[in-house]
Amino acid sequence: MSDTLDRSHDPARRSWEPSGVRHPDFPIQNLPFAGTPGGVVVAIGEMALPIAAALEAGWGRGLGLDPAEFATPFLNRYLLTTGPAEWRALRLALSDALADPAERDRLAPLLVPHAALELLPAVTTRDYSDFYASIHHATNVGSMFRPDNPLLPNYKWIPIGYHGRASTLVPDGTPIRRPSGQTRAGDAAVPTVGPSQALDYELELGLVLGGQNAVGVPVPADRALERIFGVVLLNDWSARDIQSWEYQPLGPFLAKSFATTVGPWLVTRDALRPYQVAMPARPAGDPDPLPYLSVPDDHTWSIELEVRLRSAAMRARDEAAARLSRVNFRDAMYWSPGQLVTHHASGGCALAAGDLLGTGTISGPDPEARGCLLELTWRGRDPIALPDGSARRFLDDGDELALVGHATAPGHPPLGFGPCRGVITAA
Ligand code: CA
Repeated sequence: MSDTLDRSHDPARRSWEPSGVRHPDFPIQNLPFAGTPGGVVVAIGEMALPIAAALEAGWGRGLGLDPAEFATPFLNRYLLTTGPAEWRALRLALSDALADPAERDRLAPLLVPHAALELLPAVTTRDYSDFYASIHHATNVGSMFRPDNPLLPNYKWIPIGYHGRASTLVPDGTPIRRPSGQTRAGDAAVPTVGPSQALDYELELGLVLGGQNAVGVPVPADRALERIFGVVLLNDWSARDIQSWEYQPLGPFLAKSFATTVGPWLVTRDALRPYQVAMPARPAGDPDPLPYLSVPDDHTWSIELEVRLRSAAMRARDEAAARLSRVNFRDAMYWSPGQLVTHHASGGCALAAGDLLGTGTISGPDPEARGCLLELTWRGRDPIALPDGSARRFLDDGDELALVGHATAPGHPPLGFGPCRGVITAA
């Protein structure tokens, strides 16, 4: 076993909680966090362990943790301000407790089915930024607007991003109201205002940060990875018709600030260690990253992602969802998670515990690996047929979108990210 792995990653480890054994999302090797109104919980199989209740019951005395710090839904006020050693110690203690039959009498009575809980992201996010780090996404979108020159000259030198709105981050299951806004049809002399006719999703992952750097103090490349506490699913809902009229010259604004759905389960970077893989090789002739972007032991993760859609008619008939796209995060990125962190702070931007960095739409090299409808339908030119007989250029009212993610590695169990869903409602 690599020295970055420990007994919590042992694929043979089993929990005494029966639903955790070979669970498709939440085996004992995962242990993701979510928030609930009563406090932070960790998943094991179909169950959730409230951490404050476990501490109050006498578990984890050696950790020096105050139960009150876990009796709020959010980890960023305490745990995320500590550091990687404390994060790893808590994970090890949770893994040991859920594996050790001697802890069963104490902890089993505290377990609650997570299906019975109101699950929230386990952080309050003060600042949210979104990147554009998948070169396949950037190339596809660029090709629609600039067929001869899809990638702008800065793309291979600098991770492109923009500052998003933390105020419109919403939890899994929140209905997504179709936004209205100003658009201009291609041949129209003047713009009009009305409901978006080109509502889209964006398949993304969100990096949840821990720690704090002061204003004016960068995060050097060799410290970037330790700022990443974990990863969540993220759907950056986007109104393409509003976006295409408003985005020049300063980038997205209202087209992306009406809702961004955050999945509830925060899979820690510690849990993802066995799923680390090297970044895709840069194509021959591409520049090496500038020195400040050279992250030691740089890597990404093997995370299989899917987008599923069920129309209102499909839900009424209880039909299975249609898969719109499938992509592995490993194959998609030009810029690594560590590079996104160090670049973001390189000019002196303070990054706080609980901040969220979106990767940007995750698209792979294959047509089925395109992470939004803009790419899948090529701006609406090639509609997608659904099993209910309808077709989609963009999302209809009543459509339910679900993102699904699993970290995968040979010899290790898949680790799930739980749901990240939203149903479109009328403007
Ligand atoms: Ca985005």
